[in-house]
Amino acid sequence: MLINHREEILKEAKTEISKYIKGETKHLVETALDDGDWSVIDLSEDISLKQLSTHRENLLKIDEALRKLKEGTYGKCEDCGEEISEKRLKVIPFAIYCIDCKEKREQLEVIERKEVLVLG
Ligand SMILES: [Zn+2]
Repeated sequence: MLINHREEILKEAKTEISKYIKGETKHLVETALDDGDWSVIDLSEDISLKQLSTHRENLLKIDEALRKLKEGTYGKCEDCGEEISEKRLKVIPFAIYCIDCKEKREQLEVIERKEVLVLG
């Protein structure tokens, strides 16, 4: 059951990732996701990805998600290590924080921004 769910999520993540990656790199990513052989790909070095600089933030998230897929920690919160809910992963396949930690971070960011405004 759990493995099936995981594979479903991986499949969806793969589809999402494919949207941002084209051509040769896309093929490499798909091969890597299928075989689990990541030696064929070095995302950070790839020129076609650099061309997609407007999607930089997304790419960073994809990179992170790919790293996690590679490490087998995909779907786990970066902060507390809890499993990120499936619902959340379906909406945001690249989510690296659970909803609790994400909200905490957003609150911190708001506080930091306010401090910058006050101090700046
Ligand atoms: Zn968390």
